[in-house]
Amino acid sequence: MRGKRVWVAGHSGMVGSALMRRLKRERCDIQTVTREDLDLTRQSDTEAWMRKARPEAIFIAAARVGGIGANARYPAEFLAENALILLNIIKTASELGVEKLLCLGSSCIYPKHAEQPITEDALLTGSLEPTNEAYAIAKIAGIKLASAYAEQHGCRFISVMPTNLYGQNDNFDLDHSHVIPALIRKMHDARVSHRDSVVVWGTGTPKREFLHVDDLADACVFLMKGYESPKLINIGSGEEISIGELAFLIADVIDFRGRIVFDAFKPDGAPRKLLDSSRLHRLGWSHKIALRAGIEELYHRWRTSGRNSLV
Ligand code: GDP
Repeated sequence: MRGKRVWVAGHSGMVGSALMRRLKRERCDIQTVTREDLDLTRQSDTEAWMRKARPEAIFIAAARVGGIGANARYPAEFLAENALILLNIIKTASELGVEKLLCLGSSCIYPKHAEQPITEDALLTGSLEPTNEAYAIAKIAGIKLASAYAEQHGCRFISVMPTNLYGQNDNFDLDHSHVIPALIRKMHDARVSHRDSVVVWGTGTPKREFLHVDDLADACVFLMKGYESPKLINIGSGEEISIGELAFLIADVIDFRGRIVFDAFKPDGAPRKLLDSSRLHRLGWSHKIALRAGIEELYHRWRTSGRNSLV
C-alpha cells in the first residue's frame, strides 16, 4: 500500500478511526471525505467524488450502526442506508478499476441458529436473527456484490466479517450502544450517583465474542495486503463470554459493587455468536488485546474524555 491513494470510507466512525490510526504506519496517501461533503447514500454524488479522488484502494467502514435496540427500532434506515452505501461504492469502484477494496460486514449476517463456531460457509443457510435482520440483509447484499464483481470481472474485492467490536470511539448513548459501552456507562453512572443496582438486558445467558477495534483494524490492513480470495473471511478473537460474566467483569473494572439485575423482558438476541476464524488464523494473524485490558483502556479513555455526563 506504500504510496497508494487509500480511501477510508467512514473514517470518523469507530472502525474507520481505528483504520486511520493503523494506516499511519503504512506510508500511504490516506483519503477521507466528511459526511457533510458527501452523502454516500447518493449514487451520483458518490460516483462524482470517487472519479475525482481516484482511490487505488478502499476500506468500506461507512455504515449506520447500532446495538440491538436501535436495530430493532429503525429497520428501514438500517436497511436502506447500509445497502445504498455499499452498493454505490462497490459498483463505482468496479467501474473505475479500483485495485483493491475491502468490504466490512458483520457477524450478524450469519443465520441465527448457525452451528457454532460459525464458519464462512454458514452464510445464507438459515434465517437471520430478527433484531438485526435489516442491517444484515444490507450487509449481505454488499458482500454478494463484492464477490460477484470479483468472480465475474476479476476485481480484487474482499469481504471481512468482524465479530462484535468494542473500543475507542464506541457509542455510549444507551439507546444506540452495544453491550460493552452500555454496561460501562450504566455501572459508572450508578457508582458515582450511589445507586445500588444496575439493569442488564436479557437473561445474561447469551454468549458473545468480542474483538478490540484496534485488533480489527490491524487484521483489515493485513488482509488488504495479503488476502486475494472472493471468499469471505471471519475476524474474531476465538474467545467467548456470557453477558452475565461480562457484566461481572465490567463491574470489577469499574469497581461497581451494587447488584446486577437481569431484565428478561428485554431481548437476548442471538443465543451465541462465536466466529470460526481459522481461515484468518491459518494466514498467520491473531488478536493481541485481551478483553479485560481492552475494557480497562476503553473505560479510562471514556472517563477522561469529558464526554460522560456525570463526572
Ligand atoms: P448483538 O450482539 O447484536 O445482540 O449486540 P448488543 O451488543 O447490542 O447486545 C449483546 C447482548 O448484550 C444481548 O444479549 C443484549 O440483550 C445484552 N445486553 C445486556 N445489557 C445491554 C445493554 O444495556 N445494551 C445492549 N445493547 N445490550 C445489552
